[in-house]
Amino acid sequence: MKLVSYRGPGDAIRVGAVAQGRLIDLTGFVAGLQIPAERAARLAVRGLEPPAGGMLRLLYAGADALQAAGRVVAAAAGDGTLERCPTLDQMTLLAPIPRPGKIVAVGRNYADHAKETGVDPFEKPRIIAKLASSVAGPGATVRRPVGVEKMDFEAELAVVIGEFASGVSRARALDAVAGYTVLNDLSAREFQFDVAPPQTTFAKSMDGFCPMGPWLVTRDEIPDPQALEVSCHVNGTRMQHGQTADMIFSVARLIEYVSQYMTLEPGDVLATGTPAGVGAFRKPPVWLAPGDRVRVEVTRVGALETLIE
Ligand code: MG
Repeated sequence: MKLVSYRGPGDAIRVGAVAQGRLIDLTGFVAGLQIPAERAARLAVRGLEPPAGGMLRLLYAGADALQAAGRVVAAAAGDGTLERCPTLDQMTLLAPIPRPGKIVAVGRNYADHAKETGVDPFEKPRIIAKLASSVAGPGATVRRPVGVEKMDFEAELAVVIGEFASGVSRARALDAVAGYTVLNDLSAREFQFDVAPPQTTFAKSMDGFCPMGPWLVTRDEIPDPQALEVSCHVNGTRMQHGQTADMIFSVARLIEYVSQYMTLEPGDVLATGTPAGVGAFRKPPVWLAPGDRVRVEVTRVGALETLIE
């Protein structure tokens, strides 16, 4: 199932599913979902309410709710409802999770990319924060901030968490995954590489620097996240192309590692690193400039386009 957040009539933010190029509105269905008591209790101790609606409520409602949503979509396809749904191009998609609780990114997680940076691969994952306010939707225009000249792209498979995951084993780690999406880990390299100490979080968290989408593909459609191809094109020229099989730390290993130290929560996003070919390490370097179109694609997941201005 492909789940989307989108802007509906009257600018209301809605959640839906895409089937046969059409968009089924699940907003009412999701608003009516029960949040499991154990999950509500986890929030309550911190003074938090469950999300009232949208993709986050669907994820907080748990795996059973995702299966129920799948049945709604199947029924719509079976009884003719789907044919009356709007086509995808009539709607403006947003990032599947417009405001995740956190985005945990991983640095130099592909052997070929580690090699191009000129350092030995890390023995443990290098964890980087990408602040949630940097999220942008599919097709969004992202402004290159004034004073940034080394804006760079990083094509990544993003993992969307569906459980409260704390201290999970590698063997059970993928059970915590709700699904996958595509992410462009945009970075202002002068703040990452040209200053001491590096300001990596700042470099990767500027407004719009986390395009995500176009949808969340549920885990049942991707049995092996280490069997995907990740690529990036800038203005139609291929800049990156890698295999998730070449990750140094697999998705399962990353979840095991991160959850040993911090609880992953429903709707959290794990950006799993980028293959070789980013602009910073090309000779000569290639920087994104206003007017550039960046297309990041992950096989079986989708393609994410961003316009730089
Ligand atoms: Mg990255």
